[in-house]
Amino acid sequence: MTTYTSRLIRINLSDGDVKAETIPEEIVGGFIGGRGLAVNYLYRELAPGIDPLGAENKLFLATGVLAGTNAQSVSRWMVCTKSPLTGGFARSVAGADFGAWLKFAGYDLIIIEGKSEKPVYVHLTRDSCQISDASELWGKDTKETQEWLHQRYGKNTRVACIGPAGERLVKYAAIVSARRTASRCGAGTVMGSKNLKAIAITAQRNLQLHDPEGFKQLVRKQVDCYQASKGFHRFKDVGTTHTQDVTNSLGVYPVKNFRYGQQTDFEKITCEEYRKLRTGNFGCYSCSVRCGKMHLVPTGPYAGANSEGPEYESIWSFTAPIDSTDIGATVAADQLCDDLGLDTISAGNCIGFAYELYERGILTRKDTDGLELTYGNHSAMIALIKKIASREGLGDILADGCMRAAVTIGNGAEAYAMHVKGLELSGYESRGAKSQGFNYATANIGASHCYGFADQEIFGAATPRKVDRFAEEENADIVIYNQDSCAMSEVGIVCSFACDWGWFPQIFCQMMAAVTGIEQFADSEYLRIVARRIYTLERAFNVREGLSRKDDTLPHRMLSEPLHTRGAPGEGQMVRAMDKFLDRYYQARGWTQEGIPSLQTLNELDLGYVVKDIT
Ligand code: SF4
Repeated sequence: MTTYTSRLIRINLSDGDVKAETIPEEIVGGFIGGRGLAVNYLYRELAPGIDPLGAENKLFLATGVLAGTNAQSVSRWMVCTKSPLTGGFARSVAGADFGAWLKFAGYDLIIIEGKSEKPVYVHLTRDSCQISDASELWGKDTKETQEWLHQRYGKNTRVACIGPAGERLVKYAAIVSARRTASRCGAGTVMGSKNLKAIAITAQRNLQLHDPEGFKQLVRKQVDCYQASKGFHRFKDVGTTHTQDVTNSLGVYPVKNFRYGQQTDFEKITCEEYRKLRTGNFGCYSCSVRCGKMHLVPTGPYAGANSEGPEYESIWSFTAPIDSTDIGATVAADQLCDDLGLDTISAGNCIGFAYELYERGILTRKDTDGLELTYGNHSAMIALIKKIASREGLGDILADGCMRAAVTIGNGAEAYAMHVKGLELSGYESRGAKSQGFNYATANIGASHCYGFADQEIFGAATPRKVDRFAEEENADIVIYNQDSCAMSEVGIVCSFACDWGWFPQIFCQMMAAVTGIEQFADSEYLRIVARRIYTLERAFNVREGLSRKDDTLPHRMLSEPLHTRGAPGEGQMVRAMDKFLDRYYQARGWTQEGIPSLQTLNELDLGYVVKDIT
């Protein structure tokens, strides 16, 4: 048995058929692993125009080439599917141990097909795959579900499951494993639409490497690089709970539904305030960083709330959109979303949207079932989270995401919906960190911060060069560099956090060669070509679904309203050169003016077979 299993398992929930398949050599060579394998199968197997919540949609759960080894920060897993939010390509990444366990079970990829008539769960081992009745689990939250399955299958079991939000088809439902979530793009919604409550894997570590001695030395090198990195020590100490200190001082912490770039009364939610609530650390498989910080609220209205988090995005989601700095509410809201299986970013964004509509009189107390959505009212936010997960009242409307909710509400609500292609913006202000904004505009999955994170603008990274964060089309190369670097690391699947301070492509590539024996994988230039192939194939999927240049944009507010930073740099900034940016970006990517990959680009990347679908 090698770590590079080159095998997938296909599980059809309509007829109960289960089949293991060998992944052909040419697919392994061309796409390597992780996101590459997932998008290759997704493109070939999903017919254009299908309903994301219909039986024809599929879930592709992938692990990376190095998963389950003792290399650092590489055992993450991801889900790809057609998104019920955007109607385009979806990819959502999570941590904990599930990725390693998938590899221990002997697979790189699970493909879930069809739809069960009744709730079921899947139990997978090296020798078997059972589809079982989940009526006892349906309705349970993600914690209870995992406990139930651990009790049944023992301590060598890891689970990925949905909560009540996924069962009720909230369009931004998450898949949860331990307390880590594949939360963006509605992957949990697709799982719920298939009546699939959980996937449990029982397996034991059982890996052989092609070159174990060489691999050991490379891991030593990787650990030395980690130890030498300041970022590693900082991240180990505080995880992402210091990011708000950085973004708020830069004026890119979006407040009141992206009207301001800085939070007042900020000292109540700084990194040091979260440290005071800390009860422990949590990490993913084989990662010495253990960046997950657990928090417990000792006093006040949320006394007793405890969560493995909130991480930066959830801190932002449950403060700035409603202009609150109640730290206890952030822990309580994070815990609630993890239990219910909700994406914290989309939930917080949709709630911030509702608060602005309430302020403007577009929503009234009648629409909110009596909730006062006035800024600072965090108890109404908690109530709304519960209503969203149970699809009650206004919660039912917000459960469809802010783009669709705006259409349902009408009366000009669309002007205040902060999304790209239907995916809600995360906690970085596009007008103050413009490469991050242009990444939102062009990312294949919509407005995701971790699909090409602009480390240069937020943390001052100097690779590949220093940037001016207010520059626009001049930074098209940076946006592409960041997006392609993300795709490179996600054949791994390397943690995007580790990529900020510990991404060493040479070591990573040599590790992949040492594990698999495939020499070509040792070449980081080859990896960059594979990354371009992955990115372009995802784009082709979106083009085939009808997405085009018109969809590569930002909310109107970013293009027309000056940013107010309350004294931080960037006052008055707007995104002024969207078109010029797109022209330059498309040209550098080898796409047409309409954003369609050109024949030449497709042929260069051995993707000639998609030409017929998109021209
Ligand atoms: S850095 Fe954090 S999220 Fe990333 S692999 Fe390590 S523990 Fe998991």
